Amino acid sequence: MAGTWIEVDLDAVVRNYEEVVKLLRSGARCMAVVKADAYGLGAIEVARALERAGCEAFAVTRLEEGLILREHGIRGMILVLGPTSQEEWPRAISAQLQLTLSELSSIEELNVVCSEMEQETLQQVQVHLKLETGMGRTGFQLPEAEALSIALLKAPHIHVAGVYTHFARAAQRDRQYSLGQYERFLIFASRLEELRIYPTWKHVCNSAAFLDYPEWHHDFVRIGTLLIGHYPGPGFSSKLTLSDPWVAKSQIVHLRKVPKGTYVGYQSIYRTKAATQLAVIPVGYADGFGVTPHFVPQGWLDFLKIVIKNFLALFGFFLGQEQVELKGRRVHVAGKIGMQLTVIEVGMQDCALGDEVQIPLRRTVANPRIPRRYRQGGQMLSDRVMKEGVLPAHTEYSLQ
Ligand SMILES: *Cc1c(COP(=O)(O)O)cnc(C)c1O
Repeated sequence: MAGTWIEVDLDAVVRNYEEVVKLLRSGARCMAVVKADAYGLGAIEVARALERAGCEAFAVTRLEEGLILREHGIRGMILVLGPTSQEEWPRAISAQLQLTLSELSSIEELNVVCSEMEQETLQQVQVHLKLETGMGRTGFQLPEAEALSIALLKAPHIHVAGVYTHFARAAQRDRQYSLGQYERFLIFASRLEELRIYPTWKHVCNSAAFLDYPEWHHDFVRIGTLLIGHYPGPGFSSKLTLSDPWVAKSQIVHLRKVPKGTYVGYQSIYRTKAATQLAVIPVGYADGFGVTPHFVPQGWLDFLKIVIKNFLALFGFFLGQEQVELKGRRVHVAGKIGMQLTVIEVGMQDCALGDEVQIPLRRTVANPRIPRRYRQGGQMLSDRVMKEGVLPAHTEYSLQ
């Protein structure tokens, strides 16, 4: 295959799932978070592999993501974590998705929508109540408990399957903040019980909290990061061994010998220091290459590093330039990463058009249009190639 592609090893994802299951407290289950196209790996393929491995529950952010999983044969529980709108509810109920509620006004409306759907028996929609405990995003606030209970008791079509919250600083290991959030969660949950709301399940842990607080596992833990082979932060690697399912590759599509002093790329910020070879790979920032989420310094040392890096760049010295791997050797990107083409300086080493280059491509920002090649049980499974657009709804499967 020419160009750029990503190889995803589904066996590695399953091994990570099994590592998680080993650490689960008895009675707790793993809810696989496959939002954002399973952090870039491919939600359908990852969910299928995990379901075969025994995973019974999945979570996504948007309703559309949940529908796609159902359409592609996922039978387990699917929880939509983000807010949903009234127009979407009938489809969610038909597909038996479980919804998150975090707003009082939606309760009565959801009950009406559900009651209006044609059904012989009492149709119920399964919901999870999201409690706001310190994330400052979505969720009910404690003072709303009474109104929440009154609204729910008047809504026979709504079944409260779960109650949950989400930690803001679990990966930073800020125990004090997480302990505070957990305490507020327990207070809120018991207040709801006093008010005769009895959710079947409680769940609070993401990957970091799952590893740090086994006593908080409750009925489900919601795991994304660990399944895709990342540790939530430094210091977690002693707790379990993860496999990396992800390799992004590109191929040399242009190769040329150049003299010392050749300028490369936009703004001519790069100049060769000796006679060398420049190779072009068909990948760039439109594919997610070199793109990182907005970075907030964690302390003064971090801040200083950023300042120094930017200061040196002003004078043409680049620290921490992207590197790629060619035949087991690390080589630098030369100049700025382009939109869809990037130049690498390969030196005088023997290489040719078509040679494969391994590139560091951040999973969650990797363009979904880059083809994914899936491997499982030691063989290539299928390719996922997007026809157009960016949602997996437009996916074309070619099973080999
Ligand atoms: C993304 C997400 C998770 C998973 O978090 P990881 O740290 O990636 O395991 C769990 N819960 C909610 C609500 C999320 O949005």
